[in-house]
Amino acid sequence: MYFEVHATGILERAQAPDIGLLYHRYLAACRDGEIPRQADFDIPTLPQFAAFLMRLEPQDAGVFRYSYYGGGIAAIAQFDMTGKTTAEFEAPVRSFFESAYAQCIETRQPLFTIHRAIKANLVHTWERLLLPVRMADGAVALLVYNRPRAFEQDFLQAILDGLPDGLIALRATRETNGDLSGAIILSANPAACAMFQLENSEGQQLHAALPLLHDSAVWEALFRVITSRTRELVEVCHQHHGTPRYLRFQMTPLFDGAMMHVSDVTALTLANIVLEREHEQLRSEISRQQSEGNVLRGLAHSDALTGALNRRGLFAAADEWSRKRDACSIIAADIDSFKSINDRYGHGVGDNAIREIAGVLMDIANQHGGFVARLGGDEFICVVPQLLAPATELAELARVRICVNPLASALGPVMLTCSLGVAELLPSSSFDVALQIADKALYRAKKDGRNRVVSGHEPGTATQPVLSLRSRAS
Ligand code: GH3
Ligand code: MG
Repeated sequence: MYFEVHATGILERAQAPDIGLLYHRYLAACRDGEIPRQADFDIPTLPQFAAFLMRLEPQDAGVFRYSYYGGGIAAIAQFDMTGKTTAEFEAPVRSFFESAYAQCIETRQPLFTIHRAIKANLVHTWERLLLPVRMADGAVALLVYNRPRAFEQDFLQAILDGLPDGLIALRATRETNGDLSGAIILSANPAACAMFQLENSEGQQLHAALPLLHDSAVWEALFRVITSRTRELVEVCHQHHGTPRYLRFQMTPLFDGAMMHVSDVTALTLANIVLEREHEQLRSEISRQQSEGNVLRGLAHSDALTGALNRRGLFAAADEWSRKRDACSIIAADIDSFKSINDRYGHGVGDNAIREIAGVLMDIANQHGGFVARLGGDEFICVVPQLLAPATELAELARVRICVNPLASALGPVMLTCSLGVAELLPSSSFDVALQIADKALYRAKKDGRNRVVSGHEPGTATQPVLSLRSRAS
C-alpha cells in the first residue's frame, strides 16, 4: 500500500489550500506549547471544515473509534464510518491508519499523510491533516481533515519533473503604451533549470536569465508568438563549455505570454552531419563507379581498331534498338579479297583498309540514324531505321563510295571493293533471323562476282525478285 507520513513541511506538501488554513487555525489554538482543548478546537467551532473532518477517539488495543465522520468524506468514499472503529478496515490499511494516529497522539504534533485510496474508487490519493486535541478526561483525541488529492495536478507535476526537455512558461512585459518589451519567467521545469543553469528564475527577465537568446532568431520568434499568437520552431547553435550545442525551441502562445519547449538536439544534429557527410561520400563514390562502369562498358562494347561497336555491342544495341523502331534493316558488308590486300600491301595497309571502310559505313549509318558494328576480320554489320528498299540504296551508296576512293599506300593506291547483303527486320521476326538473311544475301553477292549489293527476304515474304545492283563503277 502506498503512503507517506510527514511531521514537517506540511504547508508545502498540502495541495488543498484549506489544509493550510486549518493548520494555521490549529497553531493559533495551541497555548504555551500545549495542544488545544477539545472544547476550544472541535467540529462545532470549525463549520467550514466540518464536511471533511473526522474525530477519532482511542479505544483499547490501538483501535480508534470514529465519533464524527464528515458528510463530504462519506459522499466521496461512499461509506459512513460514524460510530464504527478502525477495526472495520483490513490490513494493511488498518495498520497504516492506527500507526499514524498513534504516532500523532504520542508526539502531540500535527501530522500530514498521503495515502492511496483503497475503498474509494473515485479518489486517487487522500491527503490528511491529523491534529491532536485534549479531551475533557485528559485523553488525547484526533481531528483528521481528509481531502482527496487532485490527480491531474500530481500527474502534470510528475510530467514536468520527469521531462528530459526544458519547459519555460513566460509572461509578456509591456510598455505603458502596450508595446511588447520583454518576457518574465513564470516557471521553469528541472530540465530547463539544468540546461541553462537557472536558479530562482521565477520572476526574472528572460533576457537576463538566458543571455544566449540575445540577438538570436529565438527572440524574434518569441515576439511573433506573443503578438501574432502563432507557433514557432527555431533551432540555434551556441558554444556551451567550448563545444557547439544545438537547441530546438518550440514556442506556443500562453495567455499574454508563451510556453517555450527546449530540446537539446546536439547528438541528433551531429549524427545527421556525419550521416550527411557519409551520404555525400557514398554518392560521389557511386557516381565515380558509374562513370568508370560506363567507360568499361564502352570499351567492352567497342572495336579498338575502328571505334565501331564490336559483336557484344551489336547485340546489346540491336536488342534495344530494334524494339523501339518501326522499320529496321540490316546491311552485312565484307571486304572483297581482303587476304590478297594483306598479302600484297602488308598488314598495316590492311588495317587502314578496315578503318577506311568502317569510316564510310559509319558515316552513312550515322547520317541515316543507324549504327555500325565490326564482327571481326573484314566483316561489318550496319543497322539502319529503313525499310528494305531504302536500306538497299544506302548499301549501294556505301559500295560506290568505297570503290571510287582508292586507299593511299606506300606502294601506290589500293583499290578496295566490298560486297553487301541487305535484309529487313520484320515486326514478326527476330534480329538473329534478319541477320542470317543479310548474311545469305552477302554470300550471294560474293558468289555472283563481288562488289555488289544483294537484298534478301524471309522465305515466303518476298513480293518481288531479289534485287541485285551492279556497280556502275565496276
Ligand atoms: P572474300 O572476298 O571471300 O571475303 O575473300 P577474303 O580474302 O576477304 O576472305 P575473308 O573475308 O575470309 O578474309 C578475311 C581476312 O582478313 C583473313 C585475315 O587474314 C584478315 N584479317 C582478319 N582480321 C584482320 C585485321 O584485324 N587486320 C588485317 N590487316 N587483316 C585481318
Ligand atoms: Mg572478305
